[in-house]
Amino acid sequence: MKRLLPLILALGALFSCAAPTPTAEPVDYVNPLAGTLSTFRLSTGNTYPAVAVPWGAHFWTPQTGVNGDGWTYRYDATHIRGLKQTHQPSPWINDYGAFSLMPVTTGPVYDQEGRASWFSHKAETATPYYYSVYLADHDVTAELTPTAHAAAFRLTYPEGQSYLVVDAFEGGQVALVDAHTLAGYTVHNHGGVAEGFRNWFIVRSDTPFEACPAREDVALVGFRTLRGQQVNLQVASSFISAEQAERNLQELQGGFDQVKNAAREQWNATLGRIEVQDQNLDHLRTFYSCLYRALLFPRDLSEVDAAGERVHYSPHSGRIEKGYFFTDTGFWDTFRALFPLMNLVYPETSARVQEGLVNDYLESGFLPEWASPGHRNCMVGNNSASVVADAYLKGIRGHDVEKLWEAVTRGAHSVHPSVPSSGRLGWEYYDSLGYVPCDVGIRENAARTLEYAYDDWCIWRLGQALGKPEEALAPYRKAALNYRQVFDPAHRLMNGRRADGHFSRPFSPLKWGGDFTEGNALHYTWSVFHDVQGLMDLMGGEEAFAARLDTVFVMPPKYDDSYYGGPIHEIIEMTVMGMGNYAHGNQPIQHMLYLYDWCSQPWKTQARVREVMEKFYGPWADGYCGDEDNGQTSAWYVFSALGFYPVCPGSGEYALGSPLFEKAMLHLPGGDVRIEAPGNGPENVYVEKLTLNGRPWTRNYLRHEDLVNGARLRFTLSKKPSRNRGLGKADKPYSLSD
Ligand code: CA
Repeated sequence: MKRLLPLILALGALFSCAAPTPTAEPVDYVNPLAGTLSTFRLSTGNTYPAVAVPWGAHFWTPQTGVNGDGWTYRYDATHIRGLKQTHQPSPWINDYGAFSLMPVTTGPVYDQEGRASWFSHKAETATPYYYSVYLADHDVTAELTPTAHAAAFRLTYPEGQSYLVVDAFEGGQVALVDAHTLAGYTVHNHGGVAEGFRNWFIVRSDTPFEACPAREDVALVGFRTLRGQQVNLQVASSFISAEQAERNLQELQGGFDQVKNAAREQWNATLGRIEVQDQNLDHLRTFYSCLYRALLFPRDLSEVDAAGERVHYSPHSGRIEKGYFFTDTGFWDTFRALFPLMNLVYPETSARVQEGLVNDYLESGFLPEWASPGHRNCMVGNNSASVVADAYLKGIRGHDVEKLWEAVTRGAHSVHPSVPSSGRLGWEYYDSLGYVPCDVGIRENAARTLEYAYDDWCIWRLGQALGKPEEALAPYRKAALNYRQVFDPAHRLMNGRRADGHFSRPFSPLKWGGDFTEGNALHYTWSVFHDVQGLMDLMGGEEAFAARLDTVFVMPPKYDDSYYGGPIHEIIEMTVMGMGNYAHGNQPIQHMLYLYDWCSQPWKTQARVREVMEKFYGPWADGYCGDEDNGQTSAWYVFSALGFYPVCPGSGEYALGSPLFEKAMLHLPGGDVRIEAPGNGPENVYVEKLTLNGRPWTRNYLRHEDLVNGARLRFTLSKKPSRNRGLGKADKPYSLSD
């Protein structure tokens, strides 16, 4: 990254000479290439550099893979084939609505192999708001900068006959409209769209195009250029219509630099809601790189029409519908920390997301569980209930929550007719037996049961807040304890259970998949977010519970991959980290480090979260320890670095960890939260004392209401565990059984 040197100088000035302000702003610390050194076999993030505005409808990325390859940008690649508009949430879900632009000077070359160019990271600048790369084969420097629905391109050509390729991908169309305009559409998708899906786009140039022989799905236009001649393009797109795509060009106010400055401002304003200070530059870069990842998804698919109304293309109905619509997120991942982060720091965006969920329900009859852009069949659980409940319980208003109540209660007792991830697969069994059996042909049944039980607790909490009658709430309150149904007392771990009541045999705590989802019993047993005390009681009390937590870290990284027939990438990512069976590279276990807060050993949480922040995260190309997953793994870091984490969304509590920074400030709409930990450092990780607004705070948690209107937290950190803080019964975070 070319920016590194000035940043070091600026920070050096700040800390050694106590200069008043650093010149770097939050966005300068972001490395969008973090996590891009990933392959099918081993993920260090499975990310791509998303050049966008926060929650933007479209992202742009350099494309190193062939059209349709989910690994769209790989750090170890040598060639760029195009600058692609993308909507991809994950390589496993892949892209939709993609098309690309590529400057070419090696003759009239259409195809993606022929036009591909060598590039170097040394001649590449990747920021959230601006991307630039020198394309060696064409002697062209390509720059781009985005708005929500458009982008400005600046292409600096050499002397001679030059070209621009616009690739509408297979099945698309693109043609020259006039000497300055290309227009077309792409139909590229991997599902989750209605029939007739199109992403309409328009490319307008300040330099006249000369038509070249046409191909339907790829346009090639030429122009004579002088050395250093800059060709400026304005590109916009729409899921609604060609006219709307043209209307979206209006977002590009002024020239390239004005668009770039506006995008930079937008990122600084959004990232700047959280200010952190540290002498360790890597910490700052990791923190803001993670916060950037947490501000991309879910994307806002809505557009403003000719009448000035906010409307959206519905991937459910295929029609143009009113209001907001957000997509490209998997709630199985993101209910955990990503949405709680939004509810705390960006509540106005949360309100729009909730409005979007109402629209999902109105247009499809279901809330999504994995959305891209419509319902996708991926992962398990019914965690939309958590996303809905946590927002409402944290004061997000302005949406039709009664409609969402209808949605979550209906979704709990039905399954989407064609996309079984939405609603609850196995709900009939769950409702009659209290669990989804392991011998009725439903995979990952124990995982489903655990998540449904938590989701029922969320529905119960939401219903209470909405003042629903007791008879409507009682079944959910009761079902919240269904995690007990899959607790195998013989092994004191969760296990698959047959319809006749017997537990699955033989049982291996190391077996991934099968009754669980991308994890084993050691990972999934902790998925009782809402009743940790109840789980602890089942396991034999505090000491047995703590000993089981300890075991996970210190045992060898053994695994049983027989369900998959080979080690999936999440398994390898666990084995290589040197922390036993702790698999931070995947979501089911990410809250586990915080559970020591419930069993009178909070110092173990404090040490482990600091260890994971230091060891598993970095601002480099291999910066994550597994799939980043739409902001979730990043949101874990953002919360943990601030010193607390939402183990149980819907409870209104954050379990306490150990803050990474000496100083942090959250600029919340209701007031500033100042977090201080003087003398913080790699050795001082244990919380000796904490004060909240100047008063001693012995609890191992903070409540949302303690923070949302502003607060001052002051940690006294120590090299040694404090073995008498946070041990009282009242110091434990929420459990349903208490
Ligand atoms: Ca994952």
